[in-house]
Amino acid sequence: MKVPFADLKAQYLSIKEEIDASLQGVIMNSAFIGGAHVEEFERSFAEYTGTRHCIGVANGTDALFISLKMLGIGAGDEVITPANSFIATSEAVTMAGARSVFVDCDKDTYNIDVRSIKKAITPRTKAIIPVHLYGQPADMDLIKKIAVDCSLRVVEDAAQAHGAVYKKVRVGSLGDCAAFSFFPGKNLGAYGDGGAVVTNDDVLAEKIRMYKNHGRKNKFDHEFEGVNSRLDGIQAAILKVKLKYLDGWTDRRIAIARMYDDGLKNVVKPRTIDGVRHVYHLYVIRVKNRKAVMDHLKEKGIATGIHYPVPAPFLKAYGRFYYKTADFPVCSMHKDEVLSLPIYAEMPDEYVRYVIDQVNAAAEKFQ
Ligand SMILES: *Cc1c(COP(=O)(O)O)cnc(C)c1O
Repeated sequence: MKVPFADLKAQYLSIKEEIDASLQGVIMNSAFIGGAHVEEFERSFAEYTGTRHCIGVANGTDALFISLKMLGIGAGDEVITPANSFIATSEAVTMAGARSVFVDCDKDTYNIDVRSIKKAITPRTKAIIPVHLYGQPADMDLIKKIAVDCSLRVVEDAAQAHGAVYKKVRVGSLGDCAAFSFFPGKNLGAYGDGGAVVTNDDVLAEKIRMYKNHGRKNKFDHEFEGVNSRLDGIQAAILKVKLKYLDGWTDRRIAIARMYDDGLKNVVKPRTIDGVRHVYHLYVIRVKNRKAVMDHLKEKGIATGIHYPVPAPFLKAYGRFYYKTADFPVCSMHKDEVLSLPIYAEMPDEYVRYVIDQVNAAAEKFQ
């Protein structure tokens, strides 16, 4: 049996007619840049996230960078980011001209460790970027309390958490603003790059909308220099269709996660905090002898991934900070054990059961 890590083609085939018709609409109206599809998607995604504004941008990294820049964060400032994330989170801080200060993750949820945030705050700290890692919301009440106490901004990195819920509220409205990515493999994915910022702040929304469009509101009326960062019409037309299915797809991801929770033995399974809807962008377990387990699964036709093999502070890109293993004991310990199993809405039960059997067999053999 061959079990892929995800299956974007199966998803397309399940909604092919609607997607094709929507794409035809863009092409027949030459609505490639801006236009009705982009506006309609922005409106629906703002409504979906329970925010007043959604501004489409070119990708999730830009969504983070533009958010920070328009919050006035730049040279001389520090921004706290989790050590356990994709490089884009910290990269956006550098792009804005500030310095990323990494903190360790929680040993159970792998999300940013709140006690470590407190220790990392200096007079230069301006913001925190909690990442809702793997699809589970970070502990936002505690993070927001620190932000209020220390007058810090909060930019949610929701690139892996479309539709995730924290205490009855969808991620996206839990900080000053939130960044989403529509990279094809994300829970809500386009057929190319795409991203968005959502916010309830009217002034910030207007600044972001201008900055991402060459600093203008009207055609040649540039009030300041910005960048060109667009969510294009074709991507918006696809996202608009897919958004209607997102909650159903998420329900299926959660059902698969429950099957894994019930069936897997002798591995460390994901833990969720109370009051959240984890949307399982990734289902990450921990195993000893990961290489042997992965090789076994590969031999049995099962694709797996590692998120992330090297914690961000230890990437060559951050060599200039001279971080040590002891600075991030938890993620340093986890990095050799984390293993992401296949999970996607179209995944048949039969595949899930097969993965469970093979992971259990490998765990028994190699641990
Ligand atoms: C995917 C991702 C991003 C960046 O999104 P792109 O659209 O690829 O630029 C940022 N943060 C996290 C946590 C991500 O997983």
